[in-house]
Amino acid sequence: MLELLFLLLPVAMGYGWFMGRNSIKQKDQTAKQDLSIKYSTGLNYLLSNQQDKAIDYLLEALKVEDDSVEAHFAMANLFRKRGELDRALKVHEHLVRHGNLPSKAQQQAIFELAKDFLTAGLYDRAEHMFQKLLKSKQYQLKSLGYLMQIYQSTKDWQQGIALKKTIFKLKDKQLLHNLANFYCEQAVAAQSQEKFIDVIELLEQALECDPKSCRANWHLAGVYEEHGQFEQAVKCYQAIYKQDKEFFPEVIEKMHVCYKELNEERIFFDFIKKVYDETASTSTLIKYLEFMIASYGEEKAVEFLLVALKRRPTIRGFKHFVKLQLASESSDSQKESLDVIKELISAYINMRPRYSCRTCGFNSSTHYWACPSCHDWEQLKPVRGLEGE
Ligand SMILES: [Zn+2]
Repeated sequence: MLELLFLLLPVAMGYGWFMGRNSIKQKDQTAKQDLSIKYSTGLNYLLSNQQDKAIDYLLEALKVEDDSVEAHFAMANLFRKRGELDRALKVHEHLVRHGNLPSKAQQQAIFELAKDFLTAGLYDRAEHMFQKLLKSKQYQLKSLGYLMQIYQSTKDWQQGIALKKTIFKLKDKQLLHNLANFYCEQAVAAQSQEKFIDVIELLEQALECDPKSCRANWHLAGVYEEHGQFEQAVKCYQAIYKQDKEFFPEVIEKMHVCYKELNEERIFFDFIKKVYDETASTSTLIKYLEFMIASYGEEKAVEFLLVALKRRPTIRGFKHFVKLQLASESSDSQKESLDVIKELISAYINMRPRYSCRTCGFNSSTHYWACPSCHDWEQLKPVRGLEGE
């Protein structure tokens, strides 16, 4: 009898296992039913415009099933598109707190939550979240971009500079360009405290980050000029031409002052002629006319200007033409008419913006190193075309 009982033991074990499996299946089934109820209730609330109740039900459903993570991201995205940031934030916060999400989804949740905080202007919390992603392969670059954006908004240049090592490793041109401008901002602060050695060091660091930063050379030239080192200043202005031809019209007058100090005006005008031949910019044309007048007389200068204007008409060029005509005119009535025309053109030019942002098209009469609209650095340059260069 005892042997029989022993023989029945595996059967009993098998039965136990079978019943246990059934019970797990049943639990799964119940959980799934629960999930489905929560989902359908959530969706019903969503459809009947009771979003807050909908979120609560849908978030509750997430506790049961990780497969719904994608649906939650989609839901938060939808809230964002509708401008309901607080709701998007609630969903992302819930995902981050979930704790057991797969690593990829967890990082995505942190990233999206950081973006919500940033949009809401909660810079401290956004910064904290983005910092968490600095070792993530997928989000490192984007997070660095956002962190630099935060430090730019809060003018926390030192914090941005603290990311130098990571930015250098990534060799991302945009980030290096931003970093160069952070150094320039610090250089400006050091300059106001007359710490000139620091200024030069900071600007050299800026050029190390971004050799194409004409802003760094602009500030460097200013420092050299202030200390009577005109040769050095001239080199910086020449470098600006190589770095950014569109920005060069901004430095022509300053460069001329330096060459005058060096008694090398002829070299300056040779350079300006070369720039004019290469860029046909109105500012260089007007500057070169000074040389033409001094060397060959007004008549030749006007001839030169007419040819240039036919080739590339600009309002500023035309104003200069009227100005030259006015100077050579002897009849009083003609002079008066030309004067009216000149004043009219001047008024029109003064009304028009001198700079435009090459990134977003923002127009301004004042120059800013960071565009007030899109916040890109060094993108405000002299306007091109008929009304500009
Ligand atoms: Zn812009």
